[in-house]
Formats: sequence, structure tokens, C-alpha cells
Amino acid sequence: MFGSALPNRLLLDRAVVRMCCHCRRVRTVDGWEYETVPESLRVSHGICRACFESHYPEFCPAPCED
Ligand SMILES: [Zn+2]
Repeated sequence: MFGSALPNRLLLDRAVVRMCCHCRRVRTVDGWEYETVPESLRVSHGICRACFESHYPEFCPAPCED
């Protein structure tokens, strides 16, 4: 539905890609990686597990999915 221009490694949640607001990595099928996000995609800022654990250790285990 997005055509072949979509990087196939990006893991989408209802056409929205998750980006970590700390390290700028995005969620892919292999975990959090540095990937270019096409302008056609919407970005939802969140936090990856690595940053969560380093910035908010008091909240571990992380409630967010990984
Ligand atoms: Zn991060």
C-alpha cells in the first residue's frame, strides 16, 4: 500500500514509524536502528529501550514495548 519506496526494514504501527527522541533511532524489524524515514511517513516520537534504561533507570523494567 506504500509502494516499493518504503524501506522494508521499518516497523510500522498503523503507518506511523516510532523514533527515539533521544538517539534518533527508529524501530525496525531488527530492533532500534538508524534508518532514513521517508517524508511520506508520519513519525511518532518515543524512546527506545536502551535510552529508557540509561535515562530512566528508576522505571525499569520499561513499560514500553521493544
Ligand atoms: Zn534511543
